[in-house]
Amino acid sequence: MQWDGWGDPQHKAALSAGQLAMVNDLLRVSADDVDAVAFEEVRVRPSALADADRDALAEIVGEAHLSTADGDRLPRAGGKSTPDLLRRKSRDEQDAPDAVVLPGTDDEIAAVLALCAERGIAVVPFGGGTSVVGGVDPIRDRFAACLSLDLRRFDALESLDETNQEAVLGAGLTGPAAEALLAARGFELGHYPQSFRYATIGGFAATRSSGQDSAGYGRFDDMVRGLRVVTPRGVLELGRPGPKNAAGPDLRHLFLGSEGVFGVITAVRLRVHAVPETKRYEAWTFPDFATGADALRAVAQVGTGPTVLRLSDEVETALNLATVDEAGAQSAAAPAGCFAVTAFEGPAHLGAERHEATAAVLRAHGGTSLGPEPAQHWAERRFDGPYLRDPLLANGALVETLETATSWTNLLALKQAVTETLQAKFTEFGSVSLVLCHISHVYDTGASLYFTVIGAQRGDAIAQWTQTKAAVNDVLLAQGGTITHHHAVGADHRAWMTDEIGPLGVDILRAVKATLDPSGILNPGKLIP
Ligand SMILES: Cc1cc2nc3c(=O)[nH]c(=O)nc-3n(C[C@H](O)[C@H](O)[C@H](O)COP(=O)(O)OP(=O)(O)OC[C@H]3O[C@@H](n4cnc5c(N)ncnc54)[C@H](O)[C@@H]3O)c2cc1C
Repeated sequence: MQWDGWGDPQHKAALSAGQLAMVNDLLRVSADDVDAVAFEEVRVRPSALADADRDALAEIVGEAHLSTADGDRLPRAGGKSTPDLLRRKSRDEQDAPDAVVLPGTDDEIAAVLALCAERGIAVVPFGGGTSVVGGVDPIRDRFAACLSLDLRRFDALESLDETNQEAVLGAGLTGPAAEALLAARGFELGHYPQSFRYATIGGFAATRSSGQDSAGYGRFDDMVRGLRVVTPRGVLELGRPGPKNAAGPDLRHLFLGSEGVFGVITAVRLRVHAVPETKRYEAWTFPDFATGADALRAVAQVGTGPTVLRLSDEVETALNLATVDEAGAQSAAAPAGCFAVTAFEGPAHLGAERHEATAAVLRAHGGTSLGPEPAQHWAERRFDGPYLRDPLLANGALVETLETATSWTNLLALKQAVTETLQAKFTEFGSVSLVLCHISHVYDTGASLYFTVIGAQRGDAIAQWTQTKAAVNDVLLAQGGTITHHHAVGADHRAWMTDEIGPLGVDILRAVKATLDPSGILNPGKLIP
């Protein structure tokens, strides 16, 4: 993973002439406005880990699996939000965890947690480091030092029950690694968030991630049948064998979305399915967003079973970021109106039936088919979008995303309120802005809205975004949205958690934390206000 940007360092995206013109002429910024800092120039806060603690940790995980080198600490100094990437470009001394430990067994994790509890060292569980909410920030709170506990050695397909269609996957497996292990046995998980290539099984569970195929296969939390979690108080095996039970509240849900504050997830038992026989795609256009949203609602409520179902608004469609082509280019993949993607998977006959049933609903609600090609094109490029952010930032643009969910009845009003808030804040900072939105996930009762905003960096761009995001969060909660549909809470949304779940809800989280992690070493400063 690129230390100060997204993804594979070999796969750098460059802005097209059209995109560069948009940045230069519309936003009035360029690469000359940005101080480009090289890796060798970065100054990292020296490790504060005491020698005795270092030696004790090395004794647990082995010398080869512990590092205090700047080159290992810096890539784990934060996640991949725009403020994270801007921070990486700072010439000031950068914060980073004091050490990186890579345990290989549950027992080693238990021993690391016991040592850290005894000696007062914070522990940040680290999966793929793709958090966009400050989930892996090295916050020390009251502790003298902080470790990044990297799960990458938990990389096995522990078991696969082909009859029950359940697999136990190591928490440190990335999306592609997990799918490759399952595919070798003819199975698939089907969880494809945009961060798929780097995020991990444990991270998906710890953040309640949602993928682009969640319309068909469900969110990650829908797929989880069981979890193994190492807490400072002991190991928990959650989720009895068998599909369902009524044995009190479902404790798995305490750990789904627990963001590393209650324990370290080391393995997840997941529902899997046979690799689908067919994949069919169809793109659609709608005259406007409201018509398209109504059509998606009808599909979700009738339940015709698409695997992918998403709708870009007029601005996103026009800018053609729906398919990550050249901004502004009008092509078959970026028609006027609002662009929608559908995909269908399963046994050949079911895929065809689902496709036809969905098409009938979309047509009846004002949709016009664009055929399979634009949707296939979207599918081929669907993990490439984040690469565009790096050259945009390097050319002085400020680009960031945020997401929420609300009921169908509130969808348009919330979209408008968020758009106006983003525009007003960017104006306040002296920049024009483009606000793009799409419906990323649909349910029978509502949908999630995913926004991208592009403007100019003005002065302290981190402060500019932090203030903008704070204003949006207030609007989300005041106007019937949630502070997060799938990005999670981390450090960035923590201040809004009391409004999200109420003071009594916060007390429950604190009580669980006090029970499982009495010394408070696990991921301080995240999730719980
Ligand atoms: C470009 C981009 C696109 C994204 N697209 C999506 C998307 O489509 N859908 C979506 O849901 N999210 C998306 N995200 C957000 C992010 O990828 C998800 O939150 C993902 O689930 C995080 O997984 P990770 O392995 O990278 O976790 P990390 O970033 O390493 O950690 C996230 C949080 O989980 C905790 N954690 C990680 N592993 C464990 C573990 N084993 N045990 C306990 N706690 C743990 C960490 O301490 C932290 O609090 C995107 C992010 C980026 C940068």
